[in-house]
This record gives sequence, C-alpha cells and structure tokens, in this order.
Amino acid sequence: MKLTNFIDGKWQEAGEEKYTAVLNPANGERLAEVRMSTKKEVDLAVAAAVRAQKKWVLVPAPKRADYLYEIGRLMKEKKEHLAQVLTKEMGKVIEEGRGEVQEGIDMAFYMAGEGRRLFGETTPSELADKFAMSVRAPIGVVGLITPWNFPVAIATWKSFPAIVAGNAFIWKPATETPMMAYEMAKIFEEVGLPPGVANVVFGSGSEVGTAMIEHPDVKVISFTGSTETGSKVAELGGRHLKKVSLEMGGKNAVIVMDDADLHLAVEGILWSAFGTAGQRCTACSRVIVHKDVKSELENMLLAQMESLTIGDGLDETVKIGPVINKQALEKIHSYIKIGKEEGAKLLVGGHVLADGDLAKGNYYAPTLFTDVTSNMRIAQEEIFGPVVSLIEVSSLEEAIEVNNGVKFGLSSSIFSRDVNNVFRAQRDLDTGIVYVNAGTTGAEIHLPFGGTKGTGNGHRDSGVAALDVYTEWKSIYVDFSGKLQRAQIDTD
Ligand code: NAD
Repeated sequence: MKLTNFIDGKWQEAGEEKYTAVLNPANGERLAEVRMSTKKEVDLAVAAAVRAQKKWVLVPAPKRADYLYEIGRLMKEKKEHLAQVLTKEMGKVIEEGRGEVQEGIDMAFYMAGEGRRLFGETTPSELADKFAMSVRAPIGVVGLITPWNFPVAIATWKSFPAIVAGNAFIWKPATETPMMAYEMAKIFEEVGLPPGVANVVFGSGSEVGTAMIEHPDVKVISFTGSTETGSKVAELGGRHLKKVSLEMGGKNAVIVMDDADLHLAVEGILWSAFGTAGQRCTACSRVIVHKDVKSELENMLLAQMESLTIGDGLDETVKIGPVINKQALEKIHSYIKIGKEEGAKLLVGGHVLADGDLAKGNYYAPTLFTDVTSNMRIAQEEIFGPVVSLIEVSSLEEAIEVNNGVKFGLSSSIFSRDVNNVFRAQRDLDTGIVYVNAGTTGAEIHLPFGGTKGTGNGHRDSGVAALDVYTEWKSIYVDFSGKLQRAQIDTD
C-alpha cells in the first residue's frame, strides 16, 4: 500500500516520487510505503487551506462542531480497526492502542461541545452607552507536527480545537507512523469536511516540517516531539514570527514516601515506567524513594518485573511491546553503559531481547538501576525506553528538590498517605502535571496537558487551554451614544 497526501479533499496520485517503508516494530514486517513529500506539496496544501479557511470561518461554530461529532462517531465505529493499525505501526500493546483511540474519540466529542461555547467575555464599559466584549477569533492556517509515540491522540488534541475554532490545518505526522494519519484523513473525507479544511502531508521534518514553518500563510505551528527538535522549530518559527506551541520531552519521576502504600506505588511505577515500553512523554524514568522503604520497594519491583510479558502488542496477553526502531534500541542500550560507568548498579535488564521471534522486532528488557544519584546522566536525560533509576532520599524536601532538578517539567507523582506531604508536593513540584497516589501517566483530555521548563513554552494541548493556541483574542467596543466618547478622557 502506498500512502499519499490528502490535500484539498483529494488523494494525490501515487507516482514516481520518493517513498519510504513503514515497518512493524514488533516483527519488521513491511506495512506500507509512505510518500516523502517536498515543499511543492506543502505549498499546494497551504494554498488549499487558505482558500478553505475563508469559507470555514463563516460556518457557525456549532455547525463546525457537527463535523466533529461525526468524526467522533466514526472513530468509535472503527475503534478496533484503528487500534489494530496503531499497534501494528507503533508497537504499543493493543489495550493501550484502544485507549489511545478512545482519547481521540473523547477529544472529538469534548471539542464539539466547544462549538456551542468558545466563550469570550462581556464586561462593562467605563463610558455610558457603550458595550464591550472579547471574542475568540481563529488565526487562519495552522501547521501541526506530531510524534510517533501517540500517532492519533496528539493529532486530535491539536486538529480538533483548531477546526472547531474556525482554522484550517496541514498535519505532518511522524514518518514512522503515517498509517494513523492516513486512517484519520479517510475519516475526514468520509464525514465530508469541506475540501482544504483538513490536509495531511507526509514526509520528513527537515523537508515538510521546515516548509510548513517557513510558509508565510501558516500562522501557527503546533509541535509535539523531542526538546532537541522543538528548539529548532522554535528558532525557525521565531525568525518567521510564528506563534509556536511546543510540547516536548520529559524526565518524569514518581516519589515514594515512607508512609506510602507500597503495593499501589509498585503498580503505579510498573504502569508508568514500562507501559508503551517506556516511550510515553510522561513515562516514569526516575523513582525517588525514601530511604526507609528503599530496599522493600526495590525487592517488590524486582519481583513484579519478572512477570511482565514482552512481545507483539497484538497478543492480548502481552504487557510490553517493542520500541519503535533499531536506532531507539541503540540509544536505550547506550544509556546502560553510561549508567554503569557513572557508578549506578544495574539490578535487572540492560539488554536487547532477541530470543526466538523477538529477534525479528525491537525489544528491550525492562531495566532497573539502583544507587543512582540525581546528577547522573541516566537521571537527567530522556532515555525514552523501559529504563528506570531508583534515587534514594531522606525527606520530602529532598525528594522535591531531586524531582525539580532536571531540565524538563512534564509530569510528577507522589505516593503518600500523609495529607501534609501531598499538599506540599502538589504545590512545590514544578511540573505541568502532578499525580497523587497514581503514576505519572493518565491524563484526561478535558484538562490542560503540557509541561514547564524544557518540556514546553507555556502553551497547552487539551482542555479549554488548547483553544488559546488556535485563537486570537479580539476586543470589540460598540458605542451607541451617538457621539464621540473618548476612553480614559471623557470619564466624568
Ligand atoms: P522528534 O522530535 O524526533 O519528531 C517529532 C516530529 O517532528 C516528527 O513529525 C518529525 O518528523 C518532526 N521533525 C523532525 N525534525 C524536524 C524539523 N527540523 N523541523 C520540523 N519538524 C521536524 O520526536 P519523536 O521521536 O517523534 O517523539 C518522541 C519525543 O516526543 C520524546 O522526546 C517525547 O517526550 C516527546 N513527546 C512529548 C509529548 C508532550 O506532550 N510533551 C507527547 C508525546 C511525545
């Protein structure tokens, strides 16, 4: 199957252009070939989006929302199919694949509701016979750049608020996971979104991403990916005076206090650290543990890690799937050497899994380091794989200091039964998301999603906050006094 671009409501013909293979990370199977587009296709998509947006903005928001209800309904109808495609191309286990599709469905219905809100403000004027209000205005054409680890949910977090607010978009998915974008484009076509409102252009970040950022008619770039790429996007976007929303890397920690329910903490850590093979932006890669419960927690984790089944995510009994590709395997493995050289103690894992069928895919053993100190590279850098570091602390204050002592700020968590610990922690942990007695994963779509410091630049996906990315505030003053009244002057 050749995946071609969806531009102006039409599928481009598959020609002699460059294509690249899409591989199943579970077994190396060739799933499809995806078009590696050029600036030319970006220009076509932007021109179509500009034309479409001029009409789209005039469609009443509740009517725009009707398309989202239909998209949500179709996603629900196709949920199992979408989840299967997702697991095949990305590798996460099918249960998580279904969960991710559900996130997209929830976002469709939630943002459809915004079609009847999109609240602005009315406020008194300082002058007589004058009316004042502010409304959200769409910005125009927006460019969406998404990563491979959540190939559908993140795109829905961006595209659904964008269109309900009256924008048109060009979406460039990650090269590793174009099939979900292809499936979504089919849904956009099926619900009859006006041509040009939703466009999907496949290709590399350097070619298609750059062309989108540099295009004068693309006013907003909403990016999710690594901090390294995000910095480049921000730099280029800044030069072109774009509004750039960045959701980037994380180094998330679970704090386990001496009064924690350790069974619950272990469950939370396993789910957050090894779910999606450690490739969630919110994956727990540090466990900050109170010294009084460190060895008990360590033993409990080791015992539970033995029972984690690893393999092809389509097998319902499997708990951990593959990592995305061979480069990811190499990167993860390089951190084992780094950790050992830094003096951390490897308790379990630390190797590629290649027994039997696993040799065909990209599997890494769930890994636990202990005796890690917070300044080590394994405790500072995003590894993006199933690798966890245990860091011992003596107090809540120290735990919070260790949590905050990294360049990222996406999510953090504390396990404690002491209400004072909990309230201090939720105040002092400097991440965009804080969990209490739950792991670092489990965001719900109606709350803002994003992080501080090296994780973001102040914008948020999800929740009403996402609308801020795709709208401008317009303040409107209506003077019905019949005379010229001057604000700040004619105030008597
Ligand atoms: P990545 O940065 O390699 O790629 C992300 C996207 O950017 C892809 O579509 C890629 O093609 C594109 N890209 C690459 N170079 C580009 C350039 N020069 N200009 C424009 N676009 C370019 O990230 P990834 O490996 O796909 O995803 C993993 C990363 O994403 C991790 O760091 C993870 O933490 C992060 N992430 C963050 C969040 C969040 O909400 N904070 C969510 C999911 C993933």
